[in-house]
Amino acid sequence: MSGLVADAPRSRRGRAARPAVTPAATPAVTSPAQPSPATQPSLRRLQQFGVRPDRELGQNFLIDSNILGVIGRAAELDPEDIVLEIGGGLGVLSEYLAERVNHVHVVEIDRRLEGALDDAIEPFDNVTVHWGDVMSIDLGGLLPQPTKVVANLPYGVAAGALLRTVEELPSVTLWVAMVQREVGERLAAGPVGGGRTGADKGAYGVPSVIAQLACEVEVLRAIPRKVFHPVPNVDSVLVGLRRLPSADRQAAGASLRGLVHGAFAHRRKTLVGSLALSGQGGGHTRDQVRDALGQLGHPADVRAERLSPEDFRALARLLGL
Ligand code: SAM
Repeated sequence: MSGLVADAPRSRRGRAARPAVTPAATPAVTSPAQPSPATQPSLRRLQQFGVRPDRELGQNFLIDSNILGVIGRAAELDPEDIVLEIGGGLGVLSEYLAERVNHVHVVEIDRRLEGALDDAIEPFDNVTVHWGDVMSIDLGGLLPQPTKVVANLPYGVAAGALLRTVEELPSVTLWVAMVQREVGERLAAGPVGGGRTGADKGAYGVPSVIAQLACEVEVLRAIPRKVFHPVPNVDSVLVGLRRLPSADRQAAGASLRGLVHGAFAHRRKTLVGSLALSGQGGGHTRDQVRDALGQLGHPADVRAERLSPEDFRALARLLGL
C-alpha cells in the first residue's frame, strides 16, 4: 500500500500509551481555573489528550451524540457492513460504527489524534486505522473491501474524497456523509431545465455529473452548526449517495471524466467552445461535436449545464471516447 500506514486491528492488548493531559489546550471546553471533566466523548478526549483542533484540517468534531443515530439510520447500518470512515478525528463516529458493523476502516491524516482515537477504539477488534491522506492512500488495498462510506468529512477534501471513493471502490454501494452545504448541493444538483434543485443557482457542474453518473444523490437534511466543536463558520448537510444498480452506470472512466471537465472548463462558452479550448474533445472537430449534440436532441450552441449525466455518457459514446 502506498502513502499509508496500515495498522493492525486494535484490541485492548494492543493499546497505545496515552499522552499527558494538557487541559489548557482546549480553552472552549473547560475553564482553565477549574477544569471540570467533560462527559461527551469528543469533549472529554479533547481535554484529556490536549488536542488543539486544526482548522486547516477541517477539525470540527462532532459533540452531539444524537447526530450519530441520524447518521446510523441514514446509512442503514447492518452487522455485515464493511465501513470506510474518512477522518476518524477523536473517534466518536468510529466507536459508534464499530459497535454496529462487521469492520471499520478509519482513515486519519493527523497523528496528533492517535491517543484519542486509540481511546475510542480500544474496546473493539474490528477497527483498522490507516494513517494517511484519503486523497492518496491505496483505496483498492483496503481489506476487507468497504461496502459503505460513512463520515463527517473535512471541508477541504469532502467532494474530492467522495468522488475518489465512487471511482475507486466499486464495492461501495452507499455513502452517508456530513459536508459543507454548498458541497452537498453541488453533488445533488441537476442540469438547468431538468427540474431538479440547484441548477438555477449554478450548482450543477463537474462534481454533480461525476457523482450522478454512478449514484443517486440526495441532500438528506441540514445539520446545525452547534453540533460541532469548534463551531464552523459554514453550514453543513448530511448527503447520501446510493450506487445505481444498472451495469452500464459504472463510475465514469478517465475519458468520460475528461470530457465532463472540458465541457465545464469555460462555463460561459458553449459546450463545443469549451471543449475546443480545453482540448478535451478527443481530437474531434467542432462540427463533429455539434453533430453528436444534435443526435442527442441538443442545439449546437448548448452549454454544458443543460446536459444530464446520461447525456454526457451518450456524448462520450458518440465521440468514441
Ligand atoms: N469523525 C470525527 C467526528 O465526527 O468528530 C472527525 C471529523 S472532522 C470534521 C474531519 C477529520 O478528518 C479530522 O480528524 C481531520 O484531521 C481529518 N482529515 C482532514 N483531512 C484529511 C485527509 N486528507 N485525509 C484523512 N483525514 C483527514
